[in-house]
Amino acid sequence: MTSSPDIVDIPGLRRPTPAPESKTGKPRQFLSIWFRCCHVYGRLYKNASQTSYNGGCPRCATRARVMIRPDGTTRRCFQALS
Ligand SMILES: [Zn+2]
Repeated sequence: MTSSPDIVDIPGLRRPTPAPESKTGKPRQFLSIWFRCCHVYGRLYKNASQTSYNGGCPRCATRARVMIRPDGTTRRCFQALS
């Protein structure tokens, strides 16, 4: 029913009002992800080249990654397919 294509991240595009910057100079963007292995939420952080979000399960350290593509998915929450 709802399939609104709200884009999350487009390399090269900036939001009009950037988020407040952290001490390191850049706001650390992340996605929330549901780790099915341990039934916990974790976070994936953007890598340096802005091509994907990477992280791991906070309990068992299973790795997870979400690719960033201009035409890609648009959700803010994901499930780790481990
Ligand atoms: Zn786990």
